[in-house]
Amino acid sequence: MKNVIGIDIGGTNIRAAVVNSDGEILSRTKVKSNARDGIKSLLKNLEEVISGFSDFHADCTGIGIPGIIDQKNGVLTQAPNITGVKNFPLTKEIKQITSLKNIIVENDANAAALGEFWMGSGSESSSLLMLTLGTGLGGGIVLKGELWRGEDGMAGEIGHIIIDPSGPLCNCGNNGCFESFVSAEAVRRVVGNNNELIDYTSGIHPDDIPEKIMQLAKEGNAEAVKIWDEIGRNLGIGITSLVNLLNVDSIVIGGGLSNAWEFFENSMLGEIKKRALAGPRERLTIYPAGLGDDAGILGCAYLALKELKVFN
Ligand SMILES: [Zn+2]
Repeated sequence: MKNVIGIDIGGTNIRAAVVNSDGEILSRTKVKSNARDGIKSLLKNLEEVISGFSDFHADCTGIGIPGIIDQKNGVLTQAPNITGVKNFPLTKEIKQITSLKNIIVENDANAAALGEFWMGSGSESSSLLMLTLGTGLGGGIVLKGELWRGEDGMAGEIGHIIIDPSGPLCNCGNNGCFESFVSAEAVRRVVGNNNELIDYTSGIHPDDIPEKIMQLAKEGNAEAVKIWDEIGRNLGIGITSLVNLLNVDSIVIGGGLSNAWEFFENSMLGEIKKRALAGPRERLTIYPAGLGDDAGILGCAYLALKELKVFN
């Protein structure tokens, strides 16, 4: 049995665990990442996390981070959520400040997809697409047990598939991207244009608005129910293209917004039934994510174990 460390670096927290090759978490910790204070501050917190695991003999460490990664060179090329990052030699810097020798870095959404594939809702699957519904809409593609990273580590950016060219402007500069219809940001925009719901959300922190709309839907508020119904319809439209393209057996939906599953499931499935090609549609099962916040940790551990050739 081998032990590895899986570390999931987020904009807010660093979650980390020692994981064995059966996927059991032996020890875990969580600290603030302070990503907004810059990469140096983040690395200091990371060092603290890693030194806390010094009693465990871990042969490899997998690290997931929100950004674009040049995996061959261990370089974080871009990371919009971490202040001051451009072509940052991540692996080299971590090796310098810790005792770690064997490190593998991966994009956080890709790591979460691998986690769900290994130990979560996709554990019976052969090919899987994970959608993470958070502030934006992230994705990860696992085909026959391998991540599809693309030629430049940029595959799986499904949030920027265009589903309506006349739709709202996205951060990427295009109009009508998938994530401008299906994300926390999308919920906030739609609520801001809704006279009834805007009253319910006045004074609430913008981060808490989707949660509030979930709560209102649970209480039977018709306008709130309508918002999730619309999110589901748009989700179904986006998924239709993805399943026609990839013909995966599983789609796993995670992220904070996936807690509204019961309110968007029907309209999402209805749209896919209406639009997707029969073959890919019949092969497909869609699951809510099963690992919650542990998906990233376990995906990073899986990558580390793969690096050690634990799996065939
Ligand atoms: Zn976009």
